[in-house]
Amino acid sequence: MTAPVLEAVDVTKHFPVRGLVKRGAGRVVHAVDNVSLKLYSGRITALVGESGSGKSTLARLLAQLYPLTSGEIRLHGNPVQATKGKAFREHVSKVQLILQDPFASFNPVASIASTLRRAVSIHHAGKGGDEQLAVIDDLLTQTNLAPPRQFTQKFPHELSGGQLQRVSIARALAASPEVFLADEPVSSLDVSIRLGILNLLRRLTEERDVAMLYVTHDIASARYFAADTAVMYAGEIVETGPSETVTQQAAHPYTQLLISSAPDPSRTDVKRVKDIGQPPSLISPPSGCRFHPRCPFAMARCREEKPPPFELADGHTARCWLYADNPEPAASERPDAQ
Ligand code: SF4
Repeated sequence: MTAPVLEAVDVTKHFPVRGLVKRGAGRVVHAVDNVSLKLYSGRITALVGESGSGKSTLARLLAQLYPLTSGEIRLHGNPVQATKGKAFREHVSKVQLILQDPFASFNPVASIASTLRRAVSIHHAGKGGDEQLAVIDDLLTQTNLAPPRQFTQKFPHELSGGQLQRVSIARALAASPEVFLADEPVSSLDVSIRLGILNLLRRLTEERDVAMLYVTHDIASARYFAADTAVMYAGEIVETGPSETVTQQAAHPYTQLLISSAPDPSRTDVKRVKDIGQPPSLISPPSGCRFHPRCPFAMARCREEKPPPFELADGHTARCWLYADNPEPAASERPDAQ
């Protein structure tokens, strides 16, 4: 595989807890902790996890919408720190974020033409009125909104959710980006139109050789849509690998829980994992493995030591003590034994 286009290296993001009560002073939400992830040209990587796992925060860190607490974001191997000004605009022209709810990402009183003209004038500076219109027509045609003039004079509320998501993809395309960060791009859409949007994103990824991060809570769609999958739990990545391997031979108990929670009547070989708890507080996350309060296989070691990523096969890793050579060391070898 070639070098990654965009990379998160050991990235951490803590948000301060704000509130009226003084008790919040100094406390932080551990939204993302020591996460590394690589995105490659022409390749889709799924980032899967339940709500609050930190996957959307990681997408926003890659987009430079938040400053990092620690770690590094690298574009073509070069560290970027571009949360404002010219550096941010340059980053945005290469890395485009597509949001979950298209209705929330458009000005309701601006026509589609006016919204797209603004994006075109930023990213195609120097083009005149007719040339801008030609670019807009092309962007809408590429996103299967044809004939384009049927859409340009409409306002967001006159389009369906699927059509508006295509317009938001067209707006992202105006920058000719090298990376798409698609944050739950189909979650708010009717099931009947999700496949069309995913197929469009896949076609654009292949035709334009862009790297794509596909953020989703739906692990079944990751298998269909993405070459690689990373599973995130409570601010940490717990399993990575080729999507086929992660979804068909899930190694981490949390990934197994996600898969057994996704209804798929055609599958009879799913390893059912009983969910025995709730996601933890990220203000004071559990010690050791953060999944241990919910894990039916938890051992004493899991409560005390954070598991490293164990390499299970080529490119397949899981952060779980079950894959250590000696999963449960003798009591005398445990870190609490003196
Ligand atoms: Fe479960 Fe322990 Fe593995 Fe964590 S490290 S997933 S608690 S077995």
